[in-house]
Amino acid sequence: MLDSKNNITPIQEIEAALLQEKEVRLFIKRDDLIHPQVSGNKWRKLKYNLLTAKAQKQETLLTFGGAFSNHIYATAAAGKVFGFKTIGLIRGERIEPLNPTLAYAEEVGMELHFITRSDYRKKEEVIYQKQIREQFGAFFLIPEGGTNMSAIKGCAELVEEVQEQLPELPDYWCASCGTGGTLSGIIAGLNGQKEVLGFSALKGDFHQQDISKLLHKVSDTFKVSDTLDNWQVNTDYHFGGYAKFKPPLIDFMNTFKKDNNIQLEPIYTGKLFYGIYDLIKNDYFPSGSSIFAVHTGGLQGIAGFNRRFGNIIM
Ligand SMILES: *Cc1c(COP(=O)(O)O)cnc(C)c1O
Repeated sequence: MLDSKNNITPIQEIEAALLQEKEVRLFIKRDDLIHPQVSGNKWRKLKYNLLTAKAQKQETLLTFGGAFSNHIYATAAAGKVFGFKTIGLIRGERIEPLNPTLAYAEEVGMELHFITRSDYRKKEEVIYQKQIREQFGAFFLIPEGGTNMSAIKGCAELVEEVQEQLPELPDYWCASCGTGGTLSGIIAGLNGQKEVLGFSALKGDFHQQDISKLLHKVSDTFKVSDTLDNWQVNTDYHFGGYAKFKPPLIDFMNTFKKDNNIQLEPIYTGKLFYGIYDLIKNDYFPSGSSIFAVHTGGLQGIAGFNRRFGNIIM
């Protein structure tokens, strides 16, 4: 079941007057359909982590996340499906009733521990990790958001899949960036071919540096060039920062769903497609070009979002 050949997601072409007018084509990789609970890029990021954990005969996965984290939800689900005990260290205090993300995680067996924001900031530090090893015993550690070398390997496979699905590789490869792990995988998979465009879901321009570092780390293992420059991260569409939004974003997502019957969520994919459409309107993509965007899933977050903000997402 961890063999991705069983989980090849469809590529769907979007039809819209704007695309015709600008003479560009837009393809969506429907990774939101990759698995019912282990959704989108989180499936790809977890795959080799789970295989490594199994090979090491580890029984427990431990990871970190915020209260609405897609990664926490996916890791909890993956633990249940693939037979691991799971522990989630969650930033902040436990608030009852739990939001839908955490309620689900707990329901499928994840042991939730709430840690202070200051401890959460220390999660990469050796001393802190030693402390949690003493507290929780043996576990396989998966970092926040799942981003590590195994995750990049899993995301790079997306490119191989597309190679088999389309007669030729699209010109522009677009994906949302949280930690940048998914984009790094796509960049590594393409290894210098075509253009890669990340859309940051967060405020700040740390992505350029973070992704360069990740690519540097994987360059030996994956035999990819260490000097790839066919990629960039756009920071114009974060709508104020992580999990922030403005009405035009929600309107866009609802219209997109009505027109294409594809659900987006407000944290990542809504901002991605808003950005792509805005760039198309502003003639960023030359006419005749093909644009490829990854729907990285994450739809589980909508329930919690609508509960907080009043069912604004259709
Ligand atoms: C986690 C997530 C991302 C961000 O992925 P990174 O690899 O951290 O950049 C994008 N989209 C969705 C839906 C996610 O859940």
